Amino acid sequence: MLRGIAASPGFAIAPAYHFKVLEPPVERCEIGADEIGAEIDRFKTGVEQAKHELRAIRDRLAREMGEDYARFLDAQLLVLEDEMAIKDTIERVQRERVNAAYVFDEIVRRTAASIGALDDGYLRERAPDIKDVGRRVLRIMRGEPHGSIIPMDHEVILTAHDVNPSDTAQLRGKKVAGIVTEVGGRTSHMAIMARALEIPAVVGVREAGKKIADGDMVIVDGNKGVVIVNPDDEELERYRSKRQQYVLFTHDLEQLRDSPAVTVDGHEVQLSANIELSEEVPSAIEHGCRGIGLFRTEFLFLTSLRLPDEEEQFHIYDEVAELIAPETVIIRTLDIGGDKVMHDVGTGEMNPYLGWRAIRFSLTCQDIFRSQLRAILRASTRKNVKVMYPFVATIEELRQINVIFREVQDDLKRDSIPFDEECESGLMIETPSAALTADAMARETDFFSIGSNDLTQYTLAVDRGNERVAHLFMHYHPAVLRLMERVVHAAHSNGISVGVCGEVAGDLLVVPVLLGLGLNELSTNPIDLPRVKRVVRSLSLREAKRMARTVLGISSGEGVRRFLAERFQSAYPDLAELLIDQETREVQPIR
Ligand code: PEP
Ligand code: MG
Repeated sequence: MLRGIAASPGFAIAPAYHFKVLEPPVERCEIGADEIGAEIDRFKTGVEQAKHELRAIRDRLAREMGEDYARFLDAQLLVLEDEMAIKDTIERVQRERVNAAYVFDEIVRRTAASIGALDDGYLRERAPDIKDVGRRVLRIMRGEPHGSIIPMDHEVILTAHDVNPSDTAQLRGKKVAGIVTEVGGRTSHMAIMARALEIPAVVGVREAGKKIADGDMVIVDGNKGVVIVNPDDEELERYRSKRQQYVLFTHDLEQLRDSPAVTVDGHEVQLSANIELSEEVPSAIEHGCRGIGLFRTEFLFLTSLRLPDEEEQFHIYDEVAELIAPETVIIRTLDIGGDKVMHDVGTGEMNPYLGWRAIRFSLTCQDIFRSQLRAILRASTRKNVKVMYPFVATIEELRQINVIFREVQDDLKRDSIPFDEECESGLMIETPSAALTADAMARETDFFSIGSNDLTQYTLAVDRGNERVAHLFMHYHPAVLRLMERVVHAAHSNGISVGVCGEVAGDLLVVPVLLGLGLNELSTNPIDLPRVKRVVRSLSLREAKRMARTVLGISSGEGVRRFLAERFQSAYPDLAELLIDQETREVQPIR
């Protein structure tokens, strides 16, 4: 049994097909003075042809999956459009009289290696993309055809070190039942693609390439991030039946799509979706969301390797607002820093999570902040857009933000640009300081949304991205829940609403407690919505309040977990069977 990160839910069983990126060695060959011209022409044609191929793939991706997915290919196109790299290659061919393939390969590898060594996780993940583009040019120069990623006529589990964005474009409609990769996290392009294509996937499985051979029977459990290689008959049977149950279960959940998230005693909670790309909106609607509770806009900035301007942003925000209307979208301003580092920003900090992050960045780089606010406001004419600020820790920050927000509104009015003058702006509660001063903050803002991922990280002093301390990351810890209770109280006594948009909102064990604490909105990954709704619809608010009171009296995270897990097992045995590890009896927060 191999463990990795649950990147896309569901079960898949099929033989492995190992996708290897072929890297034939590129030999250094001397060329004669009379061959230089032809060699350079061949190289230029190779680059042009590679651009042509990549643009075609990009267009197809944009058409079939949307612009935000297509953007993954931009890093590759940038390399081909990098005149320095092309010029360097040509000059070295002329000067050293060697083959262009050798020189270009060296330049691409050097670029990929320096990007691969960066601290920034997102940029680091672009290193394989860059090698991918080098291989494309070399293949064209050699006159070899482009191979297909899946030459199979039967279902397979695709195993790979990683799958390049240009290759993921080929996955749609192919017989890929499941995916296992050695690298990647929940936000790697592979994970995002797999979720969009609804292919169960586990990423970050160390040495999967060594441990899984071509043709091995493989089970992918995308709910728990587990991969089983060559299971025995009994295990195979068990997973076949799980897969079957899961299909029925998801089918049942689909029936709930249009029902409200209302408890048996008539209390309704708003269930909305978290998205990172505008292309996720249709899927969020399909999963029965009532609005977008968190649109993480930094993704637009991170994928494009340059800052999108006001106009580009406006089009994306406006598209989301149009798609989700008449429901509301809460657009969060840039949250870079921490693990999300944009080109040239925040690198080299000792403590990036405590550093120049999110609103601190926006308040320093006010041009960027103001143009984002303008773009958001311009998209608000349907009266279904709200603005939200991440990582606000002090009331001084809030006041400064509010002044800027008003100034941007005044600018728009002066320029006669239409926007919703009642557009609400609210805060994410992500730090203990914000939670502890929520009573004061509530008087100067329109709504709260608790970012439980960060609130947990900062309350328990546990890095949310560090595997070594992952067992300490408990978003149901009493310290976190007690802060949440305080925030709800502060919000409600000031007549504003409060939601939660961290991963806890999709953690079925904790959902009853969130309801019992009085949260008005749960915003979660679209795929989690139906099962959260199912739990809400089978609860009574009275019971939920009782559970919340009990857990607030427990002193340890472990104690809360045990209590909630037992409750869950007895209240939802069918869900527990599917989602809880029956072998280890490990009752992890369910995703
Ligand atoms: C959070 O911190 O809970 C949150 C929703 O924001 P992000 O995960 O984008 O930091
Ligand atoms: Mg956060």
